Amino acid sequence: MDDAPVENASPEQLLATPIAKLRGSTPARASRVRKLGLRTARDLLFFFPRDYEDISDLRTIDQLEEDALVTVRGVIEEVDSSSSGFGRSRVGIIVADGTGHARGTWFNQPFMRDKFASGQRVQLSGKAKLRGGRYEFSHPRVAWLEADEAAPATPLLPVYGLTDGITQYHMRKLVETAVEDFATAPPEVFSQALLEEHALLPIARALPLIHGPHDEKEKEAARRRFVFQELFVLQLALAARRYQQRVGFRAIELPTTAQVDARILRLLPFELTAGQRAAIEQVSRDIAESTPMNRLLQGDVGSGKTVVALYALLVAVAGGAQAALMAPTEILARQHALTLAGLLKQSRVNFRLLVGGQNEAERSEVLTGIASGDVNLVIGTHALLSEGVEFKRLGLAVIDEQHKFGVRQRAALRRGDSSPHYLVMTATPIPRTISMTQFGDLDVSILRDMPPGRQPVTTYLVAPEQRPRWWKFVRDRLHEGRQAYFVAPLVDGSDTVAAVSASQAFESLTNGELAEFRVDILHGRMTPADKDDAMARFRAGQTQVLVSTTVIEVGVDVANASVMMIASPDRFGLSQLHQLRGRVGRGGFPGFCGCLAEEELTDAARKRLEAFAATNDGFELAELDFKLRGPGDLFGAKQSGLPPLMIADLARDRETLEEARQAAHALFAADPGLKNPEHVLLRKQMLTRYGAALELGDVG
Ligand code: ADP
Ligand code: MG
Repeated sequence: MDDAPVENASPEQLLATPIAKLRGSTPARASRVRKLGLRTARDLLFFFPRDYEDISDLRTIDQLEEDALVTVRGVIEEVDSSSSGFGRSRVGIIVADGTGHARGTWFNQPFMRDKFASGQRVQLSGKAKLRGGRYEFSHPRVAWLEADEAAPATPLLPVYGLTDGITQYHMRKLVETAVEDFATAPPEVFSQALLEEHALLPIARALPLIHGPHDEKEKEAARRRFVFQELFVLQLALAARRYQQRVGFRAIELPTTAQVDARILRLLPFELTAGQRAAIEQVSRDIAESTPMNRLLQGDVGSGKTVVALYALLVAVAGGAQAALMAPTEILARQHALTLAGLLKQSRVNFRLLVGGQNEAERSEVLTGIASGDVNLVIGTHALLSEGVEFKRLGLAVIDEQHKFGVRQRAALRRGDSSPHYLVMTATPIPRTISMTQFGDLDVSILRDMPPGRQPVTTYLVAPEQRPRWWKFVRDRLHEGRQAYFVAPLVDGSDTVAAVSASQAFESLTNGELAEFRVDILHGRMTPADKDDAMARFRAGQTQVLVSTTVIEVGVDVANASVMMIASPDRFGLSQLHQLRGRVGRGGFPGFCGCLAEEELTDAARKRLEAFAATNDGFELAELDFKLRGPGDLFGAKQSGLPPLMIADLARDRETLEEARQAAHALFAADPGLKNPEHVLLRKQMLTRYGAALELGDVG
């Protein structure tokens, strides 16, 4: 097998060549790069540089300085080599260019000896160090020049991710060899028509260029081809998943009759906003079908998403199905339960709470009711997804604050080929690039307007010298009867993190600025019962100020609270700050948010906070956050369950994403299941990369 002539090998076999067998490679090197997930020639070809070094800075030897990335040219005057035994060796050359002499050195590359001869004109690129009065390049990039050749071979050197025991030099060599010997082997996945339509470089041209571009333009053209391909395959997978959900699962049809509509509207103490009506219409249309709904409802904090959810839940119950509402925290689940209890006083809906903190008897009673169908409506947390929760006839599941739940969690309530309708809600506006990728298998409704009575929140950056005035302002609001939140990033003090903690703040406020008021504390390490009590006391107005961590971030709704204070605001993302601020201004009183910044804010942090104070538009802030911090795990990138992107950068490649998405959806619509032989390779790539994560099974 090892001796099989290369000419007879298929491209597939060629690409599977183990790295140890590549020209110039060694088993030791091959085993080191395995830590980077690199095993074969193919892996090396698609191990894209994470950066490039510009070596176009051409110097004469007398212009050299230490550690600058430069290129020099000259004639070899001397070649020498030595060996220390134990297999260690050194090859050196001395190069002269009329202004001075420089040295090039290679360790443990005895074969380099034969590549050099006195009188050759060469070009060395890299960083030089002064050694014994002479500049020395260690393992420079070398190019052999004809006598009068001027152009450098490649002014952009690829920079690869490395691992222990492998140098940039060796990594470059490995990839370079793979490119020289195998770059023509990978088959083109795109048709000629697609390549032309989207101005993409063919694979055989893009591969050498991405690893050794001659200029910025070539680099960008090569990169664009791979970015497009990566995003195209992702979008195909998302299209396939949507398709599979549509044809693969059946949901209960939940039509909204005029009578049901009237009954629900009568329960509500207010008129719906135009946005709520539009979203309700979209949802009603979806759940009337036997194709499961998979819809994302986005709306800024306070935009009134709960009502849309409530409407759908009641339609489901009226249709004889069970419905579930899942919240990310127990506090929120209990708050939803309270809201519902108020609204459903007169109705016959049998609804129950299912959360982690319940005792065994309570829990088993709820579970029995869920299984028998006696319980129509369940409000809960993740506990709803746990073992032993069996619905008799689940028609609709609403998931509040979706970014804490991933694709897999959504699958957990399915049984066989039946699935509930899903409505997922998020108050973190999701930048479009993210909703097109991580949530790309969902339909989207957006609430853009705010309910009437919603008051604007005025935000201040409170500098240390303005604190006294700020505290007077807060005390005035409290004396007027309003309530306030004080949020800190940490529970307890920390030696390693410079940020205010809730415990410290509680101590100092109750003994200082807010000594005359009833102050309480709430954080994630308290028992569920204690948290509940603290929340209940605040809701009832028994406490005036609630000092807490971000456990109050999402959804907590206390209309009388009008002041939000945020300690160490630079520790939070913009979207998170906006979430926090959204807790106030909810009840007809104007809202105020004070960012109690510390003195040593960096410029970047100050800019971010100024942007936060300047706008109340959550969508704008989300886009900005995304630009500044990248997708991170703000949107649950990790929980989304999708493998990470290897080359595309969503903040930067937005246009390519739009283009790839349209192209992929068009292709999938024309050939659902990708059965056309022309699409075999794309289909294979899609399944290899996303089959497991998106549970694509065998599409088509
Ligand atoms: P969010 O989108 O942040 O979940 P909520 O659903 O909690 O927002 O609604 C915020 C507040 O606005 C709640 O107090 C709710 O009762 C109120 N509200 C919702 N819709 C309307 C409306 N159409 N008119 C007046 N108040 C509304
Ligand atoms: Mg909410």
